[in-house]
Amino acid sequence: MKIIAYGIRDDEKPYLDKWSEENSDVEVESTGKLLDESTVDQAKGADGVVTYQQKPYTAAVLDKLGSFGIKFLSLRNVGVDNVDADAAKRNNIQVTNVPAYSPQAIAEFTVTELMRLLRRTPTFDRKQANGDLRWAPDIADELNQMTVGVFATGRIGRAAIQIYKGFGAKVIAYDIFHNPELEKEGIYVDSPDELYAKSDVLSIHAPATKENEHMLNDDAFSKMKDGVYILNPARGTLVDTDALIRALDSGKIAGAALDVYEDEVGIFNTDFGSFDKIPDERLKNLMKRENVLVTPHIAFYTKRAVRNMVYFAMDANKSLIQTGKSDKLVKL
Ligand code: NAD
Repeated sequence: MKIIAYGIRDDEKPYLDKWSEENSDVEVESTGKLLDESTVDQAKGADGVVTYQQKPYTAAVLDKLGSFGIKFLSLRNVGVDNVDADAAKRNNIQVTNVPAYSPQAIAEFTVTELMRLLRRTPTFDRKQANGDLRWAPDIADELNQMTVGVFATGRIGRAAIQIYKGFGAKVIAYDIFHNPELEKEGIYVDSPDELYAKSDVLSIHAPATKENEHMLNDDAFSKMKDGVYILNPARGTLVDTDALIRALDSGKIAGAALDVYEDEVGIFNTDFGSFDKIPDERLKNLMKRENVLVTPHIAFYTKRAVRNMVYFAMDANKSLIQTGKSDKLVKL
């Protein structure tokens, strides 16, 4: 049995090697290259393919895999929207993903960034680097005195709620689906508008869909409390960036932590050599602000999460090859 793993980064390689050691019945080949028309031939002779990329899995690539008799494609991430579904179906290629690799990683990072905003640490870092060790005027707020509105109570939203509660914050939430446990606690409000009106901090954990594109827009910001904090570790398209900038300029928003950005593809996880060379003026506008913390989609990036992405995808691929079944199958 042979699995070929594409797009393996240096930080993933030790976990892949360990998985390979623990699964000596599987021959594992790996490459740092992504799966595309120029690399697909390398998969010939393999029984399954494991990948992770934002680049499309095109019809030409999937047709080639089909012609090699490869029926199993296991992604090391959640999103499958870059897989050409028609081509996968036509070639009887089954696709698995890794729906959750560490919700806690994203939740912990979200709260870390909130605490940096509340305690004004970026400002104190700058002041101290300049020899200014004075306190005023950068007085902080306390999370235990605040109401946190959690938008969407899926895996990550629920992990974040646990941490917010640990800080002693009051937590309210909105979701189109009510989690039974949280329902019992009575934390749900009835509408996004109610969440906006009552929250000192808005913690966004919804997936990106057509319906909620730019759900945080001028109208939504106008319904929020003055001095609200916005945390978006979910998806960039949920926020209308121009509206966010307007609300920051007016002082409506006291601070924002953004781990995602609507135009992040091709920009995040790239070294441009200097700040000036980052090719996105709007992003730089946000990055220059001391009350805005921009991070390049790193909330998930922990040892546990990277290990799980590799292990869960390899396990799923092996299971498909051996049994034709996996609990991580995706309906395309
Ligand atoms: P999940 O599928 O476990 O939960 C999503 C929740 O959103 C569900 O409870 C669902 O009912 C709710 N929901 C869907 N549409 C909604 C809407 N229009 N209004 C209100 N609620 C809605 O997802 P998750 O694993 O918790 O992921 C949450 C978000 O975090 C996703 O956007 C995901 O892409 C993102 N994410 C970010 C990172 C990162 O590194 N920054 C890593 C992983 C996931």
